[in-house]
Amino acid sequence: MTGPYGCAWCSVLRSHHGRRWHPTAGMHSWAEPSPQQIKDRMVAHRSRRAR
Ligand SMILES: [Zn+2]
Repeated sequence: MTGPYGCAWCSVLRSHHGRRWHPTAGMHSWAEPSPQQIKDRMVAHRSRRAR
């Protein structure tokens, strides 16, 4: 489960996260995304739907 408010590294939602591996972050627990990251993801999501 991913979304705009998901982990700063992998965008997986907090409730589904646990501990995960990411190429950049390695093993990590859920990290709060920055407001800019949330905004960018919302814009990206909207442009994907438009296509
Ligand atoms: Zn993550």
